[in-house]
Amino acid sequence: MNSSTVLEIFKDITRIPRESGHEEPMTAFLQQFANERNLECKTDSTGNVCIIKPATPGREDVPTLVLQGHQDMVCEKRGGVVHDFLKDPIEYVIEDGWMIAKDTTLGADDGIGVAAMLALLESDLPMGRIECVFTISEETGMDGAFGMEPGFFTGRTLINLDSEDEGQMFIGCAGGLETFATFHYEHETLREGYAPVRLDIGGAIGGHSGDDINKGRVNTIQQMARFLNSELRYGMQLVMIKGGNKHNAIARECEAIITVPDREATIARFKALGDEVRDEYFKTDPDVSFSACNFRCTEKPVDSDVACRLIRALFACPHGVETMSQDIPDLVETSTNLAAVKMSRKGEIDIVTSQRSSTASARKMIAAKVGACFLLAGATVEHTSEYPGWKPNLDSKILKVCVESYRKLFGCDPEVKAIHAGLECGLFGEKFGDLDMISFGPTLRGVHAPGEKLDLASLDKFTDHLIDVVTSFR
Ligand SMILES: [Zn+2]
Repeated sequence: MNSSTVLEIFKDITRIPRESGHEEPMTAFLQQFANERNLECKTDSTGNVCIIKPATPGREDVPTLVLQGHQDMVCEKRGGVVHDFLKDPIEYVIEDGWMIAKDTTLGADDGIGVAAMLALLESDLPMGRIECVFTISEETGMDGAFGMEPGFFTGRTLINLDSEDEGQMFIGCAGGLETFATFHYEHETLREGYAPVRLDIGGAIGGHSGDDINKGRVNTIQQMARFLNSELRYGMQLVMIKGGNKHNAIARECEAIITVPDREATIARFKALGDEVRDEYFKTDPDVSFSACNFRCTEKPVDSDVACRLIRALFACPHGVETMSQDIPDLVETSTNLAAVKMSRKGEIDIVTSQRSSTASARKMIAAKVGACFLLAGATVEHTSEYPGWKPNLDSKILKVCVESYRKLFGCDPEVKAIHAGLECGLFGEKFGDLDMISFGPTLRGVHAPGEKLDLASLDKFTDHLIDVVTSFR
């Protein structure tokens, strides 16, 4: 087995449709692969597949090693490109040491992890018993990992092959949950002499609420709340506020309509705040824009008592990094994202926030703190969609094996890292108890977008490393 074996299998996989939620052809391919090689194969009711290869004679005493990746891929194509992900094979080219899908996603995330496992399953390398686990729908919410029953695999050491930077060993991830707050309101009448103004904050970079939360970017909802909070003293009425979108994105836009006694003065103060914010974020988010204009609307304002409590709560709500990891440099341990505010249903204002931490108790603490802020303001609060994290263990045995092997093969140490986002490993750790886990893979660029590419030189190193780890594991 070598990297060409892995690449040839991956080329076969590019011909198999496997959009998240439509993995049937891929599942059938895996089952057939196992049947043709007389390997034990099981499929659970969720659609996860486990293929088992017994130990090489003489290696029966080696503890079982679990290898794991996901069957599905993100299916994105460039505008105007004709491609049916449910039928058509992925088209790719090999150029300058990269395998590239120019018009679509390549699916090396995680097809290359799957290919590496299949190469191991058909190899005659000397190794202990291995269980190769292929989950479904990782990309759309980790449905496979959520649906897996304890006992589906039995090994206590797991290597996840769904990372995208060769030379980096991942040993932890964050878990998360969402906290929702709801304010109920009645309308009040427009005050005499008041006129509406529309306020917009836009042009912020935004980003992922895990990976980018420590980059010091503007949260547009927070900045709008900052302005409205200071505007309360001049007398104002809130007609509408809307900002952010997804729970896992930093809010890039926020708009509000307010009514005020002196439009000119309000607009001038809003623009002045815009200058201050650009100054505060001159490097991390320089293009944030504040624009305000006179507006005509017939909507009645929100009851002033509710509006005041809402604005103060949005302003006081924590956002950003809460704590950093104590043993991994530059890793955010706990954070919270003030993600969205919207007036969706009549008489209701909804706030969406999300919290992350690799430590379960810290995750609960920050969620309770955000909740307390909105409870103080008289909102109702609900916590949902909790998923577990994976707390880094620097004393891990598999980490030691992987680092020593890397050093032996390449003469340098890999980077040992954790991420402030979710991985399937978090769910396995929760379901299967004390697992010793690690995640690594070859270098991929532009994943989840057309143009996704695989670095072939990194595939050579990844394959050599994986072979050495699997054969030297005792
Ligand atoms: Zn993936």
